[in-house]
Amino acid sequence: MTAQIIDGKQVAADMRTELKVEVAKLKEQGIVPGLGVILVGEDPASQSYVTAKERACENIGIYSDNNRLPAETSQEELMALVEKMNKDSKINGILVQLPLPKALNEAEVLLAIDPAKDVDGFHPINVGKMMVGEKAFLPCTPHGIIQLLLRSGVTIEGAEVVIVGRSNIVGKPLANMLIQKKPNANATVTVCHTRTKNLPSHTKRADIVIAAAGRPNTVTADMVKEGVVVIDVGVNRVEDATKKKGYRLVGDVDFEAVKEKASFITPVPGGVGPMTITMLLYNTVESAKRAAGIEVA
Ligand code: NAP
Repeated sequence: MTAQIIDGKQVAADMRTELKVEVAKLKEQGIVPGLGVILVGEDPASQSYVTAKERACENIGIYSDNNRLPAETSQEELMALVEKMNKDSKINGILVQLPLPKALNEAEVLLAIDPAKDVDGFHPINVGKMMVGEKAFLPCTPHGIIQLLLRSGVTIEGAEVVIVGRSNIVGKPLANMLIQKKPNANATVTVCHTRTKNLPSHTKRADIVIAAAGRPNTVTADMVKEGVVVIDVGVNRVEDATKKKGYRLVGDVDFEAVKEKASFITPVPGGVGPMTITMLLYNTVESAKRAAGIEVA
């Protein structure tokens, strides 16, 4: 079997087109969704993520309030900016790009964000609501993964899902979302990590394997069954002298070999990555609708 490649760029583009239409309709009612973006310091990766997020907002008609602060910014200054955005009715979502410089207290900043504007879904209030199945902002990467599966026609209900990785931003929230007693969830989920005794024994029986370990070749062809669905979240740099930058990006899955056994597989790049920003836009639009008293699903 050769897998169908799940084209994350295409799925993300389709969702952004839908969002653009929705934003245009909201504008007719005088509602302009707004995202407040805060970047502290000059980390090049963070700068490029933030620029991509700002561009994505512009493309679909979301207003973005962009704040680039120097690395020496104090905790008080940062907290004051978050507080200002909490009160600003033009801002429906607040995004603090992580990681913050070491001198700053990240947890305190995230806790200060109004949960109603926490479009990253990292505030403990939203994490708790998600856990008990209440309406909440869902964290962008796991939510994007679920959208990729559903929009590819993969059945989640009743599936055996094995997640490799238990981080607070991918593995744990994803497991939580997949076990909810709800349509498009209802999966049986196993979460593996570095202390898991026999990783292949778990991945081999999975209908869906989601790799979020941050290590190349964590999932190889001998570790999966025929017809498995594979979502590769990992983004790893490996040296490659043939590339101008001297490296290329690979995921956590041995893509070439696993695609010969899988029914569906995501590539890296071009799989999960494009969905993460799209779900941030989705949450910002949802937040604007909630603020305007429009019922959201
Ligand atoms: P993380 O915080 O480093 O967590 C990695 C997890 O994988 C940990 O739970 C770790 O176990 C587990 N792990 C590592 N090696 C393993 C192995 N050999 N066998 C079993 N488990 C293993 O990483 P993260 O933030 O979740 O990110 C994971 C990857 O996804 C990274 O490559 C990251 O760049 C990528 N990512 C991509 C997107 C996107 O939008 N495309 C978004 C977020 C993350 P322990 O807990 O025991 O240490």
